[in-house]
Amino acid sequence: MNRRSFLQTASAAGLAALSQTRLSAAPSPSRATKHVVLFTSDGVRWQDLFTGIDPALMNEKSAGMADAAALRNKLWKPTPEERRKALMPFFWDTLVPQGILLGNVKKGSSVQVTNRYRVSYPGYSEILTGRSQDEVIRGNDPVQNPTPSFLQFLKRKSQLTSDQVAVFASWEMFHHIAEDKPGDIFINAGYDTAKLPKDSARTDELNKLQYQARFIEDSSRHDAFTFGLAMEYLDKLQPEHLYISFDETDDWAHARRYDRVLDSLQFFDEALRELWTYIQSSPKYKDVTTLVVTTDHGRGSTLDDFSGHGPKIPGDEQIWAAFIGPDTPATGEASNSASCYQRDIAPTILDLLGMDYHQYGGVAGQPIPAAVR
Ligand SMILES: [Zn+2]
Repeated sequence: MNRRSFLQTASAAGLAALSQTRLSAAPSPSRATKHVVLFTSDGVRWQDLFTGIDPALMNEKSAGMADAAALRNKLWKPTPEERRKALMPFFWDTLVPQGILLGNVKKGSSVQVTNRYRVSYPGYSEILTGRSQDEVIRGNDPVQNPTPSFLQFLKRKSQLTSDQVAVFASWEMFHHIAEDKPGDIFINAGYDTAKLPKDSARTDELNKLQYQARFIEDSSRHDAFTFGLAMEYLDKLQPEHLYISFDETDDWAHARRYDRVLDSLQFFDEALRELWTYIQSSPKYKDVTTLVVTTDHGRGSTLDDFSGHGPKIPGDEQIWAAFIGPDTPATGEASNSASCYQRDIAPTILDLLGMDYHQYGGVAGQPIPAAVR
């Protein structure tokens, strides 16, 4: 089933334990973080992230694995810790030890979606606004987000120009999700010619190629184009804040091509390597940039339902989130930690930037204590 036609209504359920209150760190003038780079990949299961290639799927023809012997041989190892490193070596060897990763359910760490739909638009909106808006954002319908995103809040608070806060996304819906006023920040999403940077042969080439190498979806392009355009923008325009959003991990899962899901996760890892290597070799960004990596929703855990998500799929409210930067303790993979929520990501980012998140009107989440020094 195609995700765009996915059931988009839901019964209110599973929102237990949201009344928990937590103390949050007061905004500190001593924060080192000046820039935030947010990087998401759509519908990445915690099962794959934390335990690598799934033994329940890896030999299954109905999961698209019939001809994937080479991939299986490359990624299969005896333990989950070895398997996840084989799948995403940069993420596990370099990023996680330098920051914190929350959401390994098997080790007593939980990050949950609070919107009731558990499809993409409500999930991204919850990440970008720090709240669920179940009465307005009722699925993946193309309505303009009624709430300014935290990216817009940052632009206004720091008096930035629209080009200094940039979004590159494979899915075209980000024109609706990431801002309440079209044109307030720089958004390049779906099949979309990037207007910046000007006079870049690389951008000109990718602008053309994205239309020549079509993806299976009409509403999203290949992640490789999204990433190439984003990196060229980062290098040439040096924005204050950047959001990169990949989509193929979700599209291939809906198509029951677990082999391509694994390929996409490996590309996600390579992209994280290239991005973080750039950041840490840049005079502007080095040691003053926090990288946040997360996903919009989980999905099923069995051969039958790994491809799906939404109100009928059990367990898909479980997601994960990583924070790496100068104001986050290097505690690595969290275990036996307090539960946190998708809506906490935006206030955590504002706190890491030394801002008072209460000033972001209507925010429902709170900074995650374990992610803030
Ligand atoms: Zn999604």
